[in-house]
Amino acid sequence: MKQLFAYETTRRKVRRAFAALREQGIKAKENHLCCTTCATDDMSPVGRRGGVYWHGQNDDNFREDGELYIGFFTDSGKGSDVVAKKLVDALHSERLVVEWNGDTGTKVLVRSKKKEKRERY
Ligand SMILES: [Zn+2]
Repeated sequence: MKQLFAYETTRRKVRRAFAALREQGIKAKENHLCCTTCATDDMSPVGRRGGVYWHGQNDDNFREDGELYIGFFTDSGKGSDVVAKKLVDALHSERLVVEWNGDTGTKVLVRSKKKEKRERY
């Protein structure tokens, strides 16, 4: 139950961050289709500001492990680092635990805090 609660709370915050990104003109899709290929194909073209998403497999992983991988991209591939930075900023604004190594080939990871706590036992 605790795990489910953490999942719901974190998910709500991520959805708020996505809403904020939409206000900046970024295309943001939640739990969108099954995989990276389907999600990005469907969202393209995302336009000048780029797009962010997580897909069904990411969502399953999030439910099970408390780790949500969020993808980001632009139509040309150029400037995807800027999209990623905006994504990380929006997630930080919601006080989420975010990991990203600055590599545009790596997805942004959000960890459910309560899940981490639970794992210490
Ligand atoms: Zn797919």
